[in-house]
Amino acid sequence: MPAATVAVLGYVSLRQWQRSAELLSREQARDVATMAADKVDMVLRAVEDDALARLQAALAGGRALEAALDDFVAATPIVERLYVLDREGRVVYPRVPGGADAPVIAALRADVPRGWSDRGGRREVAVGQTSVLTAVLRDTDGPLLIGITRSADGLRRQVLESLLPSPEAPTIYAIVDGAGHSMYSPRPLAGAEFVAAVPFRNGFPGWRIAIYQPRGTSPVASVRRQAAVIMGALAVLIVVIAAGVVAVGRLVRRETEMAQLKADFVANVSHDLKTPLSVIRMYGETLEMGRVRDDATRQEYYRVITRESERLTRLIDNVLDFSRIEGGRRRYDLAPTAIEPLVRETLDAFAYPLAQQGFKVEVEIGPDLPEVPMDADAVGQALANLVDNAIKFSGDSRWLRVEAHATDGGVVIAVSDRGIGVPREEAGKIFDKFYRVGRSDTQARRGSGVGLALVKHVAEAHGGRISVESQTGAGSTFTFWLPR
Ligand code: ADP
Repeated sequence: MPAATVAVLGYVSLRQWQRSAELLSREQARDVATMAADKVDMVLRAVEDDALARLQAALAGGRALEAALDDFVAATPIVERLYVLDREGRVVYPRVPGGADAPVIAALRADVPRGWSDRGGRREVAVGQTSVLTAVLRDTDGPLLIGITRSADGLRRQVLESLLPSPEAPTIYAIVDGAGHSMYSPRPLAGAEFVAAVPFRNGFPGWRIAIYQPRGTSPVASVRRQAAVIMGALAVLIVVIAAGVVAVGRLVRRETEMAQLKADFVANVSHDLKTPLSVIRMYGETLEMGRVRDDATRQEYYRVITRESERLTRLIDNVLDFSRIEGGRRRYDLAPTAIEPLVRETLDAFAYPLAQQGFKVEVEIGPDLPEVPMDADAVGQALANLVDNAIKFSGDSRWLRVEAHATDGGVVIAVSDRGIGVPREEAGKIFDKFYRVGRSDTQARRGSGVGLALVKHVAEAHGGRISVESQTGAGSTFTFWLPR
C-alpha cells in the first residue's frame, strides 16, 4: 500500500516535471529561432539597402540605362527580377517584360496613382504569394518606381550561408516554405527531429525559420530519456520497497510463530515436569507413612518412582542439551561403540511402560554389526527420544520395532510404530525445534517439541542423517544413519 502510493505520486510528479521541462525546452528553442529570424531579417535588410544604394548609383551614373541595370541585376544575387516604372507608369525596365512579369507590373501600377513619387522609402507590395520590395529612386529625369522580387538562391548565398551556424553545429537551422517543404538547410533533414519554427519577418511570406536537431539529441528527447531513467530508478526502488515489505512481513510472521512456539514449549515443559514430580511425591509420601503393608505393592511403588524419575531425567537432559545446542556449547565425544548393547539398554529403560501398556516389541539386530565412532550418551538419548515418540504416538496399535543393520558406509537404526503417523506435508517440519503436529493444546500428548530437533542435531554432528517414512494412520519409521 505505501509502496503503491509512492509509485503513483512519483509517476504523477515525474510526468508533470517531464511536461514542464518539455514545454520549457520548446520555449527556449522558439526563442532561439526568433533570434535567428531577427538576425536574418537584419542582414536581409542590410543587403537590400546596399542593393538599393547601388541601384541608385547606377541610375544616376549617366550610362546607358538598360546596360547599367542589366549589370546591376547580374551583380546582385538577391534580386530575382527588377522592375523600373516611370512617373506615368510606363515600364522602363525590363525592356521586354515576360508573361510572368504582368501581375507584378500590374500591382506596381496600381500603386502609382497613390502619390508614390512623393513618398520615398521602401515598402512591400504583396503579389499573390510573393512580396515585392518597392522603393522610389531618382534618375536625372525624376522619380522612378522600383520593384524587386527576391531570389531564394540569392537569399541563401547572400544571407543564410554567412549567417546561420555552420553545418557541424548540432542544431540545424532550416528554412521551410508555407507548405512545409525545406527551401534551405545546411545538412539533410532526414533523421532530424523538428523542434520549433518562427515565421520570417519580411520578404518571403509563409516562410519560416525552423530548428531541427539530430534524433535523440534534442532537449525534448533528453528530457524523455531522463524521465525514462528516473522512472526506471523509481520502479527499481518500488520493487526494493515491496520486496522489503514482504521480507519484513515474513520475518514478523516467523518471529510471531516462534514466540508462540516458545510459549508453548515453556508451558509443555512445566507441565511435563510437574506430572512425574507429583506422582513421585504421592508414592513417596504413601510409602513414608508406612501405609503399604504388602511387599509386592511396595515394590510396585518403588518401580513407579524409579520410572518417573527416569522420565524426569530424560526430559531435563533433553532441555539442557537443547539449550547447549542453541548456545553452540554442545560437544560430542566420539568413541567406537557397539550398537547392540546400546539398543538393548535404551529399550530396557522403557521396559516398564512398554510392558504396562501391553506393547508387542520386535527387536532385530543384524549379525556382525561393526563398532561405530559415536558419543554413546548422545546417540542413546536420541534413540530414547525415538522410542518415547513411538510409544507416545502409537495410539491403540501398541507395536514397536527396533532394527539395526549394517549399510555400505555405516549403520542404520530404525524405530517403527503403527501409530497415528505424520501427515506428508508436515514430515519436513517435525525436525524443527518446538514444532509439533497440531497445536499443543489440541495434541493432548505430553512433549516439548525439541526431541526430534535434538535427534537431528546428534545425527548431523556424527556426519549422519535422520529421516522419516510415514503414512497418516498407518505408522512411522524413523531411520537414523551413522557413518562408520
Ligand atoms: P514432542 O515432544 O512433541 O514429541 P518431538 O520433537 O519429539 O516433540 O516431535 C515433534 C512432533 O513430531 C511431535 O509432536 C509429533 O507431532 C510428531 N511425531 C514425532 N514422532 C512421531 C511418531 N512416531 N508418530 C507420529 N508423530 C510423531
